[in-house]
Amino acid sequence: MFESLSDRLQAVFQKLGSKGRLTEDDVREAMKQVRLALLEADVNFRVVKEFVAKVTEQAIGEEVTKSLTPHQQVIKIVHQELINLLGTENVPLQEARPGPTVIMLVGLQGTGKTTLAAKLALHLRKKGKRVLLVAADVYRPAAITQLQALGRQLNIPVYSEGTQASPPDIAEHALEHARKELFNVVIIDTAGRLQIDEPLMQELEQIENRVHPIERLLVVDAMTGQEAVRVAETFNQRVKLTGVVMTKMDGDARGGAALSVRAVTGVPIKFLSTGEKVDGNTLEVFHPDRLASRILG
Ligand code: GDP
Repeated sequence: MFESLSDRLQAVFQKLGSKGRLTEDDVREAMKQVRLALLEADVNFRVVKEFVAKVTEQAIGEEVTKSLTPHQQVIKIVHQELINLLGTENVPLQEARPGPTVIMLVGLQGTGKTTLAAKLALHLRKKGKRVLLVAADVYRPAAITQLQALGRQLNIPVYSEGTQASPPDIAEHALEHARKELFNVVIIDTAGRLQIDEPLMQELEQIENRVHPIERLLVVDAMTGQEAVRVAETFNQRVKLTGVVMTKMDGDARGGAALSVRAVTGVPIKFLSTGEKVDGNTLEVFHPDRLASRILG
């Protein structure tokens, strides 16, 4: 991901570097290329417009054009604005005090929610937490067996009541169980649908009202581009999201969703998922500066 964006940006900066001193026109021409590169990477057009305006305003200032290394200054400005776009700083998961900390995972079907539930459980166990996974996706029986299989593989308990119970009940019973058994964290894998629908949203609101999850994380498939941003906006209107997890960051999508979602929704990206395997290497805590550096190469 981001390879072609990185290549395009590097080419723009190389050209700038070859010019020595920069005129305002040089900067404007470079920004035109940056704009095209971002649009081709499938970044939301409003986000691109604002981004380019901010960079241009700073880059045509005298401090830059009269400096001894003007193109380096432009790169620095782009780097900083990318960081700002991505949310400036990592926003860590919140902990409920007193516990248990309840984390609700929401998202469309196939985005990687169940896989992420297991990855997150592993991540938190490494931090010394006792984690309980909760199978609340009762409409897709395979989701329950998938979560149970992952739980067995990782030796992490999975709370399930099969497919007959209602998800809000399951969530509440799971939380009671977690309190009794002194679990620190409860991760609820909720149902996804192929599309956002009203019953899905109502069910999420009911779970929210019953167990008050301190974290409401939307799992978003980075491969779905701008559609992912629209989904995030819709979910955020109903279930006030506390974070986004971008999955399939190992794929060859153009990366636009990852670059737009924070700017459009205001919801911070908290993790990146980078593979199908559930192990310690495929979940990355999201750091805006690291991704910005990766994009700029
Ligand atoms: P759910 O329907 O949202 O619970 O999605 P699943 O967890 O069942 O994942 C759907 C598919 O995406 C499965 O084939 C997963 O192996 C795959 N998957 C999940 N996360 C990632 C990821 O980060 N990268 C890749 N390449 N595949 C993933």
